[in-house]
Amino acid sequence: MHTVEIIGGGLAGLSLGLGLRARGVPARLIEAGTYPRHRVCGEFITGLDDETRRELQLTDILAGARLARSVLWSEPGYPVLRHDLPEVAVCISRYRLDEAMASAFRAAGGELRTACRGSADARPGRIMASGRRPQPGSRWVGLKQHFHQLELQEDLELHLGRGAYVGLTRIEGSAVNVCGLFPRPGRGEACGLIDRVEAAGLTFLARRLQAARAVKATACAVAGLDYRRPAPPSAALGDYHGLIPPFTGHGMTVALQSAALAARRLEVWARGRLTWEETISLLQRDLRRRFARKLAWGRILHPWLLAPQGRRAVHLLHRWRLLPLGPLYRLCH
Ligand SMILES: Cc1cc2nc3c(=O)[nH]c(=O)nc-3n(C[C@H](O)[C@H](O)[C@H](O)COP(=O)(O)OP(=O)(O)OC[C@H]3O[C@@H](n4cnc5c(N)ncnc54)[C@H](O)[C@@H]3O)c2cc1C
Repeated sequence: MHTVEIIGGGLAGLSLGLGLRARGVPARLIEAGTYPRHRVCGEFITGLDDETRRELQLTDILAGARLARSVLWSEPGYPVLRHDLPEVAVCISRYRLDEAMASAFRAAGGELRTACRGSADARPGRIMASGRRPQPGSRWVGLKQHFHQLELQEDLELHLGRGAYVGLTRIEGSAVNVCGLFPRPGRGEACGLIDRVEAAGLTFLARRLQAARAVKATACAVAGLDYRRPAPPSAALGDYHGLIPPFTGHGMTVALQSAALAARRLEVWARGRLTWEETISLLQRDLRRRFARKLAWGRILHPWLLAPQGRRAVHLLHRWRLLPLGPLYRLCH
């Protein structure tokens, strides 16, 4: 059988590797970093179906993870909306999840090369899963850190600030993941998580974080995020294929589901029953059908929900009991 070479060992790359090994396909994964490591991520997985978990061998890995059912939305200083999630979500740190997936990939006979950069040149058998393609002019920065001794009012707290949002969720042990998307700080402005929370007008949340115990080693940042529609490159998965705004979407589940679709198509190529060009064209069609609408709605709702007028509308609709939470959730998931 042909070997599939995956460039990038984030969620898309690791899950594709697992899906391929479950089908007996030889897979080589090239990852620039090492495991385990912390990554900027809300660590909140929504809408992941049982079939995808089974296909990607994730059932055991996710079995011990925390579950989340309720959400509290807050504006600076006061809670706005409390509701149950349409589906139960899974909360697990990327530190633990990526490490468990990398170990499972190796145990399943996959070849994993870490601390090694792969080439982006297109060639038969090579799939790009190397995450976002950084955009120099981007106005966003993502920050995350774990905290202890921080009580949450619901399973997920979402705080909406000035052009920013912050999500808080419980993960393993007594840790709480705090992760947000903020406008990029100007020259000379402090760029720590609590500084950005404060700058977004979320003073009460900043005080809570100052009173909690921050785990220094978990702090990380990412810049160059661009949520405008990119032209999808041919053989690509996950964020490399298209970034979905984290506030409205579920990038981790998109990465996992796209890997499950790709594993099915790539098995046929690996067994020599289709050419590479045919395989990639079918895969692109699968990805378009499954994700084009979600990505489009995510990009429409993202700026609207972060703008004060959009948030006022949400508030009023909620007060009048007209907020279509279920349909909005389904549009993005
Ligand atoms: C602030 C923020 C909060 C988020 N919160 C959530 C959330 O709560 N829930 C959710 O579902 N999604 C969330 N997301 C989105 C989610 O994190 C991503 O969609 C998901 O991680 C994408 O996975 P990926 O495998 O495509 O990319 P990544 O996880 O970025 O992995 C790409 C990998 O490729 C490697 N790489 C890059 N270049 C090379 C190279 N040349 N050679 C080898 N390796 C290379 C990198 O080291 C990296 O390990 C959030 C994103 C942000 C920015």
